Amino acid sequence: MTASPPNIALDHDAIIIGAGLSGMYQLHRLRELGLRARVFETGTDVGGTWYWNRYPGARFDSESYSYGYSFSKELLQEWEWSEHFAGQPETLRYCQFAADKLDLRRDIQFESRVVAAAYEEDSRGWRVRLADGSEHSCRFLITAVGPLSTPTLPRIEDRDTFRGQAFHTASWPKEPVDFAGKRVAVIGTGATGIQTIQTIASQVGHLTVFQRTANWAAPLHNSKIDAATQAKIKASYPEIFARCQETFSCFIHTPDPRSALEVSDAEREAQYERLYGEPGFGIWQGNFRDIVIDREANATISDFVARKIRERVKDPKTAEKLIPKNHGFGTRRLPLETFYYEAYNRDNVELIDITETPIERITPKGIKTTEKEFEFDIIIYATGFDAITGSFDKIDFRGVGGIRLKDVWKRGPETYLGLMVHGFPNMMMLMGPHTALGNIPRSIEYSVDWVTGLVRFARDKGLTRLEATPEGVKEWTDHVKALGEGMLSNEVDSWMTGINRNVEGKDIRIVARYSGSAPDYRARCNAVATNGYSELTLA
Ligand code: NAP
Repeated sequence: MTASPPNIALDHDAIIIGAGLSGMYQLHRLRELGLRARVFETGTDVGGTWYWNRYPGARFDSESYSYGYSFSKELLQEWEWSEHFAGQPETLRYCQFAADKLDLRRDIQFESRVVAAAYEEDSRGWRVRLADGSEHSCRFLITAVGPLSTPTLPRIEDRDTFRGQAFHTASWPKEPVDFAGKRVAVIGTGATGIQTIQTIASQVGHLTVFQRTANWAAPLHNSKIDAATQAKIKASYPEIFARCQETFSCFIHTPDPRSALEVSDAEREAQYERLYGEPGFGIWQGNFRDIVIDREANATISDFVARKIRERVKDPKTAEKLIPKNHGFGTRRLPLETFYYEAYNRDNVELIDITETPIERITPKGIKTTEKEFEFDIIIYATGFDAITGSFDKIDFRGVGGIRLKDVWKRGPETYLGLMVHGFPNMMMLMGPHTALGNIPRSIEYSVDWVTGLVRFARDKGLTRLEATPEGVKEWTDHVKALGEGMLSNEVDSWMTGINRNVEGKDIRIVARYSGSAPDYRARCNAVATNGYSELTLA
């Protein structure tokens, strides 16, 4: 696959942007096809999310053994997860282990940020430019940039005037941060803020949490994996992954087919109590089927979790602040916690509700709210990401005739199966907008295999130009929007609905996520492959 019409030589068959779990697996698969693939990665090592998010307490909230690559028996049998929900250092080691086993690094160029990529019709290829100015050409461009990989800092005045240390959780330093005796602020109480707060509360001198929107959270119930359980896990990988293939979002939890409203109060309460006491996402993904689609059903679980928060937090005023009032349980991505609520029972932890006393500005000494100036040694921004489309916006993607992806998506992403975009031939997206996310590595493996199948098809048929049609894009984009209707999560501001008020223009809700079931998504994509990709324009 080296000659291209009209015999213009390309540097690589494929360029992959990003060496996280998607990029690593895609590289492996393309190599198996015998293609010359190159990965460009901004960081100094593999791991993506798990490379960057080194903040204290970062860890899985899906079961470790449902998270690793499933495609290689060797990887599965050689790797041992030490905990049911592994911490970031262990997960990063896992990524490094996989990279070593598959000998991936020789085709990955680190410290290489892609800043632009332009399709060139004469070569039917892409020209990719790195931050250092170097240019690299390829037939296929595969984005593996991750849905949550462009961190955003809050738009607060004078942010740069602070004289202490300041960190965003997703750009955390590799060296340990010393919290002993320090006055620390955390801004943000999403999944990341919650993990950070519960972890550092006992290490810091004093912790002040600035909360804008309270989030529902439920216990993670993490524990070590003992030797007997380890053996059982290793023996049951086929069943674990088979189960992940069957469930709505590829987690091991299966929804209860009953409505929360069709059972007795006692039965409902018993189910909520049981799920609250179990590890992982069961209370969200394995609960009554209608808790995230029916307001009344949702109110029952929200009331239950609110009672738990009131029981766990000693100060009633603090408890009330921690109970969300503007959205129901599970309508934003659920954070799982480990004694998060108990952190607020400590004398050295204080919660500031910035809807009552907004932050006016950052000062050289700390943070000034409408009430007073707080002094800090360290400010931690757990303020999230320019999600899903943010990492695409950072790269100047130009398609046919120089059309800009950012312009094409200015009213929200428009995609074909979440994998391709009309006007951007030979570009395939992994975990881009409109794909099934859920338990991400499961979705990654599927998408990589689909893209690999398409590339293999092109190679076998001698095709050099693959493009989504406008009809295909419209049909899929409309479908994704229709699926979102009736989901309570699409009526709430969060990264899942494209809201990030720290980013210009991201204050209008969009449908950026496929919210149907993973099995349905795969069935649709499989049918396209079975039909010889006839829905694409092929040349
Ligand atoms: P996030 O859920 O978007 O939370 C960001 C937090 O920062 C929110 O509390 C937000 O408040 C606050 N914030 C943003 N801008 C602010 C401002 N200008 N002033 C005050 N507060 C501000 O981001 P995240 O916690 O990093 O999590 C993102 C996603 O990453 C999660 O939903 C999850 O999918 C993934 N994640 C996974 C794990 C895991 O265990 N595997 C761990 C962490 C994260 P508002 O809500 O008011 O906007």
